[in-house]
Amino acid sequence: MTSTTYKNGAVHKGNVKPITATSSNLKSSSFKPRLNPSQSPGSALRRSNPSSFVAAAGNDGVPGRVRVAVRLRPQNAEELVADADFADCVELQPELKRLKLRKNNWDSDTYEFDEVLTEFASQKRVYEVVAKPVVESVLDGYNGTVMAYGQTGTGKTFTLGRLGEEDTSCRGIMVRSMEDILADISLETDSVCVSYLQLYMETIQDLLDPVNDNISIVEDPKTGDVSLPGATIVEIRDQKSFVELLRLGEAHRIAANTKLNAESSRSHAILMIHVKRSVGGRDESFSCETENASHWVKPSKPLVHKSKLVIVDLAGSERVHKSGSEGHMLEEAKSINLSLSALGKCINALAENSAHVPVRDSKLTRLLRDSFGGTARTSLIVTIGPSPRHRGETSSTILFGQRAMKVENMLKIKEEFDYKSLSRKLEIQLDRLIAENERQQKAFDDEVERINLEAQSRISEVERNFADALEKEKLKCQMEYMESVKKLEEKMVLNQQKQESNGFISDRCNGEVPGVAVAEEVAEIRKLLQNEMYMRKTAEDALTKLRSQFGQYMQSASCEDTEISKLQKMLEDETHQKKKLEEDIVILQSQLMQLTFEAEQMRRCLGEYGNTYTGLDSHSRYSETGNRLKAPISTLFEQVGLQKILALLESEDANVRIHAVKVVANLAAEEANQERIVKAGGLSSLLMLLRSFEDETVRRVAAGAIANLAMNESNQELIMQQGGISLLSITAGDAEDPQTLRMVAGAIANLCGNDKLQTKLRSEGGIRALLGTVRCGHPDVLSQVARGFANFAKCESRAATQGIKSGRSLLIEDGALPWIVQNANDEAAAIRRHLELALCHLAQHEVNAKDMISGGALWELVRISRDCSRDDIRNLALRTLSSSPIFKAEMRRLRIDF
Ligand code: ADP
Ligand code: MG
Repeated sequence: MTSTTYKNGAVHKGNVKPITATSSNLKSSSFKPRLNPSQSPGSALRRSNPSSFVAAAGNDGVPGRVRVAVRLRPQNAEELVADADFADCVELQPELKRLKLRKNNWDSDTYEFDEVLTEFASQKRVYEVVAKPVVESVLDGYNGTVMAYGQTGTGKTFTLGRLGEEDTSCRGIMVRSMEDILADISLETDSVCVSYLQLYMETIQDLLDPVNDNISIVEDPKTGDVSLPGATIVEIRDQKSFVELLRLGEAHRIAANTKLNAESSRSHAILMIHVKRSVGGRDESFSCETENASHWVKPSKPLVHKSKLVIVDLAGSERVHKSGSEGHMLEEAKSINLSLSALGKCINALAENSAHVPVRDSKLTRLLRDSFGGTARTSLIVTIGPSPRHRGETSSTILFGQRAMKVENMLKIKEEFDYKSLSRKLEIQLDRLIAENERQQKAFDDEVERINLEAQSRISEVERNFADALEKEKLKCQMEYMESVKKLEEKMVLNQQKQESNGFISDRCNGEVPGVAVAEEVAEIRKLLQNEMYMRKTAEDALTKLRSQFGQYMQSASCEDTEISKLQKMLEDETHQKKKLEEDIVILQSQLMQLTFEAEQMRRCLGEYGNTYTGLDSHSRYSETGNRLKAPISTLFEQVGLQKILALLESEDANVRIHAVKVVANLAAEEANQERIVKAGGLSSLLMLLRSFEDETVRRVAAGAIANLAMNESNQELIMQQGGISLLSITAGDAEDPQTLRMVAGAIANLCGNDKLQTKLRSEGGIRALLGTVRCGHPDVLSQVARGFANFAKCESRAATQGIKSGRSLLIEDGALPWIVQNANDEAAAIRRHLELALCHLAQHEVNAKDMISGGALWELVRISRDCSRDDIRNLALRTLSSSPIFKAEMRRLRIDF
């Protein structure tokens, strides 16, 4: 061997130079170590050797060169016979990662690859060096591509698509990739979906649903993401169903190609594996807050990584060169080869850093735009055969691989907020809270009822017992008393009889007998008396006993009382807690609404949280949330009720107040809700908020809501009646935040346009307040002031024409003219247009003419009549000037041509 040509980058003649990692013919990114797995999520999979085939780091926006391996197929039976006398056209030096392509017996070209795989390389090793690093990247959230390029029969399908069912060691890259993916993800939180397609003659067919035979490619103009919305997508949950799917795809491919009279080698097979992984997001906040519903924690936003692994089995590369030579019809040949030759052109352009890369020339290059020069990690395996008869094909395959090695990608993770799952979780949580609340309420009501019943039955039992005992005792006493009385009466009768008979005997006997009888009687009576005394004592004892019993009963009754009042206290506590729970629900709902809104904003790629307050021209509204928010708002209405939301405006919790006022403001932005809000007393609450709270956000949002309500004529009168104008005027005087001032000025400007309210508005200081807001100098505020003056001047002018009003304009009376004149030619079109109109309206009435002349307004009117870009305003100024004798005389005096 006399000379060796070194390919890939610098060319060396002569002896082989040892090549090291720092050698200039290798790009610096080639040997960068992979990211430390701990820095990237989802790294459960066993990581490949850092110095393996794909070595570039995988952080956001990290350069990563396309990695290229070459694989040599062993001689087949035919070659063993036919090429027996010839040497192979290639010689591999796998340890040096070099391949020599023999030119003739003496000379060969040497090429260096990222990996050189001999005819003995196992399918496992091929997977590990070519595809595994890409699969790991995909699991980390990057897009990835594995592609096989080479002449028909060199082993592309063998490398990628073998199912290996008869011999598992034969499993190809597709099957092994899915095995690793399924092993690394969690089926509860992540998902894997697959589509399988064929590209033939610039037509994409669905290998999972052959009826679908003309799928179009859709590109997102903003992100450049390519998708195939028409393709069947199947979710994969186990390896078996995936292998089944590949087999089905292959069967459909054979059937479709038979129908088209084509061979598989002419078409490209594309397998797309979509991996969605959830990362971050604090689920624990959902489980713990159910314990104590009143301490609601706003959950963090869940993140998802969406990545895609594309595995492409390209059509045979010989087609690029042999078009037409095998009797193809010209058109067919062109179409068959279009995608492959476009891929070659794109890779050439990228390898040479050319300014134009013809990505749009074919469907294949459109589909693979992320794989070459995009954000994906890409591995290419070029397959070659050993036969010297195909030296030309082998050489061009090798050159393709060499050019691809120069393509540099910029790896990026695609990360999204998973708003859908957040909103689902919030809804579930809300449901749970509502159910829990109902359950607690029901249990509490039941308990109260039970205790009430029990207390009642105990009280009535005690009362009954006491009454019975009392009755019995009373009866006993009565009976004893009656008996005593009866006995005494009997005694008395007996005594009388005895006395009578004693008198009769003494009359007769005159002696000692009566003395004995009396003594007996006295003894008897004494006995009776003693008896009476004893009975009385017994009765008294019984009475004291009863009294003490009664006392005991009374005591237990009062115990019942304290129990009832304890229950009442509990009831109050529960009611309070229920109220708090309801407040939480409203907050949750408003947060849900806010989140839906944010999600909407994100979706529109506006990229920032909108303060939802927009301009207050009569067209624009407080809220930008548009139609999409109507659903959550009306849900809120139904679920919570307007009254409750309004009640929250007075909540003691500042956070609740702010939420509530935002919700009311959002509702007030919808014309359909305005009447309901006003009827429910919302206007008064908002007016009160304007004054009673120091918080600037509350004031700003309340003023915005009032401004929206003030667009409607009947509301305008209500605002006036409820003293709104003086509240707005005071706020106009002391607010400092330009947005608050803009809302307040906008509200007053709306009121200025109501004919009926002119005098009252002015007498309550509306005009001066409006004029006062210009101190902040913010153009949005100035334009609201200008609009207000234009509205006011127009109403005045109308009233003067109808003869309702006479005398100078109230705007002039209140000193607004100098500001109007000063700013009538403002740069901002909105300010200028309103003030020009205001001047024209003021000039319509001769009473104002003298003040206008002395205030310099005539010069402005002349300017408007000459230069104003709006025809209607210019003509109005012209007409006004030419119909006013005072203005005309002054112009003559000043020698103004008119
Ligand atoms: P291609 O898809 O490039 O047209 P195939 O994968 O169909 O080529 O391979 C052609 C033939 O060569 C098949 O019979 C295949 O089994 C065989 N073959 C390819 N590569 C190898 C290899 N590395 N070891 C053994 N047989 C191989
Ligand atoms: Mg094939």
